[in-house]
Amino acid sequence: MEKVLLHTCCAPCSGAIIEWMLANGYKPTIYYCNPNIYPYEEYLVRKQECSRYALSLGLEIVDADYDHAAWQCCISGLEGEPERGARCLECFKMRLLSAARYASEHGFTLFTSTLDSSRWKRHDQIVEAGNWAAAQFPGLKFWDKNWRQGGLQERRSQIIKEQDFYNQRYCGCEYSMQAMHDDKKQTRQHIRKLVSVMTPESKAAQSAAVWERLEQNQAFKDATDILAYWSMDDEVQTPAFIEKWTALGKRFYLPSIQGDDLIVKLYDGKLRPGEQFGIPEPDGEQVNDLSPITLILVPGRAFDAQGNRMGRGRGFYDRLLPQLPHALKAGVCFDCQKLPSVPTDDNDFKMDFVI
Ligand code: SF4
Repeated sequence: MEKVLLHTCCAPCSGAIIEWMLANGYKPTIYYCNPNIYPYEEYLVRKQECSRYALSLGLEIVDADYDHAAWQCCISGLEGEPERGARCLECFKMRLLSAARYASEHGFTLFTSTLDSSRWKRHDQIVEAGNWAAAQFPGLKFWDKNWRQGGLQERRSQIIKEQDFYNQRYCGCEYSMQAMHDDKKQTRQHIRKLVSVMTPESKAAQSAAVWERLEQNQAFKDATDILAYWSMDDEVQTPAFIEKWTALGKRFYLPSIQGDDLIVKLYDGKLRPGEQFGIPEPDGEQVNDLSPITLILVPGRAFDAQGNRMGRGRGFYDRLLPQLPHALKAGVCFDCQKLPSVPTDDNDFKMDFVI
């Protein structure tokens, strides 16, 4: 079988091309180099799917570095370009140059890319970038086959279903992500997927960083009474933080779900599973006087720098927060939950700041 290096952007774009190559006498080595993908958790999801597919076929997969800062330098000045414009050409050049270098250094004479299988990309730009990259290394050729033709586009869709691939809804970079995030449902699904690939260690480290930042915040330093939340697995972790600051003299309150609403209870160290979702909550009475609370730590699915928040879709906090107009609201989330902008509607309550 003839050797070929196949630069791979994601599993959905790779499936039909790899299948065609194996059926036509080519053994591809998969080269995964996509520093354009944002955020890092999205990069991990796409890489895991590629690895799963490649390894199921007994193919070697080469994992190139993820250096998003270097990618940003590469497209600097082109951030505002539309998709399929000048930014994309530089993005292709960066990735295909890396693939060409690897190919040249490892005895390949032919390389190509799955980039061409996506409807988001321009064939002419990919060919230009591929030929430019190949020209830097004598003896190397870019295979400029149009991988959308010959039934491959149809087969692409079938394999996505057969393999149950994670099928992203944006090209990859933060600039292409925004269109998808105009839709609340898609945004929630996307963020849920990103948080699901975070390791326990990564969640713990990011949670610790969030609380370190909060501890420097004057509103937190001044607050004696704080409405927090007892975290679920996909939220910034609160238990150790609450226990630490309870021992240091601050008073914490936690929400408790009652029907369609959240009520507030004082945290006294004893918790029981909540009735609707099993989220631990205090066993005591509802606190009706909320005036001592000056700071609220609000979890959410996504936040933006303007303080917009998107919750889980049940509206619990949007009904609770108007009862505490005097208190500062701090959005609490992992890095991958911070978006350039979050879709909102009139009922959504704005945060005073996001930690
Ligand atoms: S839209 Fe896609 S191809 Fe264009 S710069 Fe962003 S990630 Fe690269």
